[in-house]
Amino acid sequence: MPTPPSAAARIFRVALPLPVFSLFDYLAIDDEPICPGVRLEVPFGKGHKIAVLMEISTTSPVAMEKLKPILRVIDREALLTKQDLALLQWVGNYYHHPLGQVISTALPAGLRQGNTAALPQTRYLALTDMGKNVDASSLKRAPQQKNLLEQFQAHTSALPETQLASMQNNWRTAVKALIGKGLLMLTDAPDMVVQAPAHNTGLSCNADQQAAITAVTDSFGKFRVFLLDGVTGSGKTEVYMQLIAIALARGLQVLVLVPEITLTPQLEARFRQRFNISIAVSHSKLTDPQRQTAWLQIRQGECAILLGTRSALFTPFKNLGLVILDEEHDTSFKQQEGLRFSARDVAVVRGKQLGVPVVLGSATPALESLYNAANGRYRHLRLPERAGVAVQPSLQLLDIRNQRLQEGLSEPLLAAIRGTLAKHEQVLLFLNRRGFAPTLICHSCAWVARCRRCDTNLVIHRHEQRLRCHHCGSEQALPKHCPACKTGELTALGLGTERVGQVLAAIFPDKTIVRLDRDTTQRKGALENYLEQINAGKVDIILGTQMLAKGHHFANVTLVALLDVDSGLFSIDFHAPEKLAQLLVQVSGRAGRAEKPGKVVMQTRRPDHPLLLALIHSGYHSFAQTALAERQEAGLPPYSHQVLMRVQAASEDAPLAFLNAVVALLQQHAPTKVEVLGPVAAPMAKRAGLYRYQLLLQSQHRQALHRLLDKLVPQMEAMKGKQKVRWSLDVDPVDLY
Ligand code: ADP
Ligand code: ZN
Ligand code: ZN
Repeated sequence: MPTPPSAAARIFRVALPLPVFSLFDYLAIDDEPICPGVRLEVPFGKGHKIAVLMEISTTSPVAMEKLKPILRVIDREALLTKQDLALLQWVGNYYHHPLGQVISTALPAGLRQGNTAALPQTRYLALTDMGKNVDASSLKRAPQQKNLLEQFQAHTSALPETQLASMQNNWRTAVKALIGKGLLMLTDAPDMVVQAPAHNTGLSCNADQQAAITAVTDSFGKFRVFLLDGVTGSGKTEVYMQLIAIALARGLQVLVLVPEITLTPQLEARFRQRFNISIAVSHSKLTDPQRQTAWLQIRQGECAILLGTRSALFTPFKNLGLVILDEEHDTSFKQQEGLRFSARDVAVVRGKQLGVPVVLGSATPALESLYNAANGRYRHLRLPERAGVAVQPSLQLLDIRNQRLQEGLSEPLLAAIRGTLAKHEQVLLFLNRRGFAPTLICHSCAWVARCRRCDTNLVIHRHEQRLRCHHCGSEQALPKHCPACKTGELTALGLGTERVGQVLAAIFPDKTIVRLDRDTTQRKGALENYLEQINAGKVDIILGTQMLAKGHHFANVTLVALLDVDSGLFSIDFHAPEKLAQLLVQVSGRAGRAEKPGKVVMQTRRPDHPLLLALIHSGYHSFAQTALAERQEAGLPPYSHQVLMRVQAASEDAPLAFLNAVVALLQQHAPTKVEVLGPVAAPMAKRAGLYRYQLLLQSQHRQALHRLLDKLVPQMEAMKGKQKVRWSLDVDPVDLY
């Protein structure tokens, strides 16, 4: 029985960072005004936790005398607004994830732990009147000071010290000197550093770009989703930047989401160059304090642009006016553990809540987005031509059946490489597998090096003399002899970038070859360094994994070769053809980006494969239409909706037993409009020592699927044997593994 309200009962209903779906009630300690969205410290068990206030009530389902009072109120004003909370609640409901954990995903670590939500004192500097008028060239004997002064003169307002650090090393000394000379002064933080760039350095747009800019601009202040569908090099980024300039001029903030920022340092540099105002950046490689600063700067309106990866989506904005999501097809927008949200889909929801336009850009839009464009949910904006002088590269299949291969390189390909290098142009080779070779096998007894903890082979890393599992990270020394028969000779089967790199170095001893994969770019700054060398023309051959597909501009690359496209043609996941097509087109897009025409060569043993033929002869959109027709035929997304339930456990039987019990529960709810497929062993049945099973729920009716889960999840929470397994729900999975 709910307790009747007592005279002054004020009950705080809070979300706690726990894997629990319900909210928790506490008693207020005084009657100070307070609103949802503030953080509280509350007693919990023997300790205490940081909670977020969701609602204030006068009644509780818990008996009043059992409620504990909170310990303290942390924030004086709401850290998360009503709208922020509504978005997080939507996310919790849609992904069937506990609200407290959703909120944890949205908050930087320090704020999660109860730190005060204040920006570290940043000092701002501005020109004095003398500084505004002095001719910077009078400082030519102090180049550091001259440079800094010029930077200030190019801006219209004060700059925070944090930004100076990104402009110039040794800035402190220069600042001190400029203050000493009466040219700079310390000043108060400006209220909102939102303004148009000092000089619009934008390019003059072509008609397609202009049409896109006008369409989005007309929609400022209203919710509307635009699919900016433009071939690589068609000037999408230019469109984003011009839209941002317009938003800034109207005093609006902009959220720009990209798949993996650290892979595309060029984009950040381009933004900084165009907008000489401070840009907040947020991604997982930053330290916690750095992320917290960016979060607070955006929330307080001190920064107008936030450039970030998927988790930046939840940053609260003071005055968000435009959301841009680049490379919208990229699956790294989908978080694959914990809260498995799609930043693209939630960005659309956020745009709708706030009434602002959302621009989704890609050269290879997701099938789902093309479907949404076709049914009118998104407005389709096309940029079919490359901007400027660049032309589309020519695509060609290279049949390697019966060809002699040198570590995966065919004679015709080698000839093409030689020809390109002779013209002093660059070659880009793509192979989506790092390491030396994916299989170590015994020549006499056929023993294969397998991971003990996963259902997979260990990958040879020859330079380091290690065998590594690319799934669980376990590794061991590379054996010299076969551990099984003790006598057999061990052979490396298959190709990885390390192996191809070696053979290239042997064939082209006087050429500079750079390998770009996760192994060679681990060190901080390594990728930037390589990219710089490439763009300075110091590199002849670039060899790499899908890291290369991510929006890089290599102006002097005129030959792109995909060494092995076949391995992508044989996956059991229905998403595989879509992903392969996107990858092929994205990698191809690196060729001929400047004046020089490019050529793309794909080595294959399946030159008659319909997917490859469709891509080559009719392009991505024609492929997409065929693929969508197949999905419709098979009743697969986007023509239906899926939720994948994954279960894993240390014991082999527990996952299946658990899923069988879930199926029994589902039968109690029947008939529903939901199809239950499985349970089956996961495609990788064992991973990191855990056994894995899965169950797929599919329905034409999204509502029916979610209503069923609303009922099922609490029942699963209450199930016996639940402690023996770990289960998770993946709503709209992009990967059935
Ligand atoms: P995308 O993001 O679609 O790959 P970008 O915006 O990076 O394309 O543009 C590709 C190249 O074309 C860049 O070098 C850019 O400066 C140039 N470019 C873009 N728009 C124009 C334009 N209207 N006129 C001339 N060059 C342009
Ligand atoms: Zn052997
Ligand atoms: Zn493993």
